[in-house]
Amino acid sequence: MDESALTGESVATDKDSAAVLAADVPLAERQTMIYTGTAVVQGRGRAIVTATGAATAIGKISTLIAETEQEQTPLQERLDRLGRYLALAALAIAAVMVGVGLWRGEEFLSMLETSLALAIAAVPEGLPAVLTIALALGMRRMAQRRAIVRRLAAVETLGSTNVICTDKTGTLTQNQMTIRELHLGGRTVQVTGVGYEPTGEFYMGGQAVPLQPDSHFLLALRAGLLCNTASLEHTDGHWEVVGDPTEGALLVVAAKAGLDFEAERDTYPKVGEVPFDARERRMVTIHQGDKGANGHELISGYPLAMIVKGAPEVVLPNCTRWQEGNTVVELTEADREQLWQVNNEMAGRALRLLALAYKGAQTQTEDPFSGLVFLGLVGMIDPPRPGAQEAVRRCQEAGIRVVMITGDQKATAQAIAQELGLLATLESESGSPEAQVMDGLALDAMDEVMLQRQVSATAVYARVSPEHKLRIVRAFQAQDQVVAMTGDGVNDAPALKAADIGVAMGRMGTDVAREAADMVLADDNFATIVDAVEQGRIVFANVRKFVHYLFSCNLSEILTMLVATVAGLPLPLLPLQILWLNLVTDVFPALALAGEPAEAGIMQSPPPETRRQRPPASFVGSIAFQGAFLAGATLIAFAWALGQSTDISRATTVAFLTLGLAQLFHVFNSRFETGSALGPQLFSNRAVLGAIGLTIALQMAAVYLPIAQLVLNTVPLSLSEWGIVLVASLAPALTIELYKVIRR
Ligand code: ADP
Ligand code: MG
Repeated sequence: MDESALTGESVATDKDSAAVLAADVPLAERQTMIYTGTAVVQGRGRAIVTATGAATAIGKISTLIAETEQEQTPLQERLDRLGRYLALAALAIAAVMVGVGLWRGEEFLSMLETSLALAIAAVPEGLPAVLTIALALGMRRMAQRRAIVRRLAAVETLGSTNVICTDKTGTLTQNQMTIRELHLGGRTVQVTGVGYEPTGEFYMGGQAVPLQPDSHFLLALRAGLLCNTASLEHTDGHWEVVGDPTEGALLVVAAKAGLDFEAERDTYPKVGEVPFDARERRMVTIHQGDKGANGHELISGYPLAMIVKGAPEVVLPNCTRWQEGNTVVELTEADREQLWQVNNEMAGRALRLLALAYKGAQTQTEDPFSGLVFLGLVGMIDPPRPGAQEAVRRCQEAGIRVVMITGDQKATAQAIAQELGLLATLESESGSPEAQVMDGLALDAMDEVMLQRQVSATAVYARVSPEHKLRIVRAFQAQDQVVAMTGDGVNDAPALKAADIGVAMGRMGTDVAREAADMVLADDNFATIVDAVEQGRIVFANVRKFVHYLFSCNLSEILTMLVATVAGLPLPLLPLQILWLNLVTDVFPALALAGEPAEAGIMQSPPPETRRQRPPASFVGSIAFQGAFLAGATLIAFAWALGQSTDISRATTVAFLTLGLAQLFHVFNSRFETGSALGPQLFSNRAVLGAIGLTIALQMAAVYLPIAQLVLNTVPLSLSEWGIVLVASLAPALTIELYKVIRR
């Protein structure tokens, strides 16, 4: 067991159920216990659950350290920094206001009051709350699409992901293996049938093979079923594989020939095993081939049989002989060459390949990898998942690079990649399809600098082991790319941690991978990653929207006050009115913007750049311009009202209502960055309509409720005053939207 999570000890420990221990041995030495959160490195065993949840060793630790620290997302950090600048700017503006006011002979205390109110208004207090709500909404929408996000920050990072590195088997493909072809020495046998249903026929050169297979064929099927930990079950009228689908396929093909895996495993009991390992790409089992009285003999003349199955490039080099019918003959270089050709031809047809080999042994300690007898090649198909092709296309439209990573052979990987359209778009940039496929050996030969140059031209990594994933992630990150990486095994954990978005599998993967991941796919599906990225982009866009809204509104308040002061007008808004506006008009519409639906074309443009430190000039310019617009309209209405009556509170009420309503209608300007709100989409966000209704009601209350009149110093307005309020408050929003329509 790897207990490093618990003990910090990186060397795996052995377990022994028979060990007798003192009652007080430290946790790290309790050989008879295995712990939650630790991982099986090798071997198998059965255990009794003695504690769950908070009662486990790791549960006790996590209860101790529970929720000590709330992490901040990069966006939250950037907004925090912005907040500090704004606070400084607000203080500066307040100082200017006081200075100008004093110079004009205004009373110091009233100027101080106004400046402070303005300074408070300038700081977007609602921002952190709205931001958290936007991220949480995104998290919920992702969960509804079967992407479970484990950290809030990941929601935001997902939106700016521009490279997705994904496993092939089970994520891009169905992991529903069906064996199509067996190559036995000089003969190729075709197999019919679909899925795990154990019915099908064998054909050789177009001729049906009698269901009583010859001894070579039988031995190959038997080897595939014995060197195997899966099982085949018939439940609710259909067949199911428990365990590795690759191994399940071998059980199914054996069953098609009438071999029952349970009976066979009883006859040839397993006495030893080297489990499958993604790094080594092969596994070994050792069987008792000689049951004495029973008379069963797996390999004549040997008490034990060692069976090896694995990737052809791992198994074939260890074979010195091969099976030919009932006899075993020397494997010459020419034969080997011939087998490679068959292998490459089969792999080129997108068949996933396994090689089977065996040897007789006298003792269990013999090296299973020398002097093997080659039995055959098994070719299985693993069709792409429905929707995978479509998801790859969506990524390409969205400017996201998809990189496929697999332990399979180059040719198989390339064939599948071609089918999925992974190579199509890169072709023009980086040359032939073959040039876009790199294998683990080539990767090993590269140093970091070379790899960094190569990653942008490579769409497929074949024959890689989990350790390579980390290097690939690092190479992309060295080029400022935001990388999502999938993984399911224990060995994948470092790459998952290093990736900007580590994605683990909910169904097939290990707990270790899930612990290391930022996101877990409940359906193991590649398309779900793309859906999550889309949701991340929506969140990101919505953050921009309410930042745009809050900042332009605050700016309009500042400008209204500043310009009036400098121009020698009376103050258009009283301190409490500023605070009221800041509280009412800012909060509800901004909250409504946090839940905006997706804008059309959100997955048709390149990802937003989060790594950039400053927001783009066009964004800042639009805030400044629109804020000035609102302030201008308010000042005009205010100036008009000043000319109508000598009662100054009538004019401030006009300014108060104009700015309040103008900010409210301004929410539509922030809703669509490029498109216009004018059209059916005007009503597409019910929360915005609700926020508008609520805010209008509050504004009316502010003017017509006696208590509010007292506090806010407002007066009921005449019809003509209302007219000017409406025109002046609608004009900025409408003009801005019309401008957007014309510009398009
Ligand atoms: P993938 O990236 O497709 O998941 P794997 O790492 O699972 O690839 O497998 C890589 C290669 O190892 C396969 O092409 C196959 O030849 C071999 N292999 C896969 N599963 C097994 C298994 N259970 N036993 C032996 N060999 C296997
Ligand atoms: Mg796999």
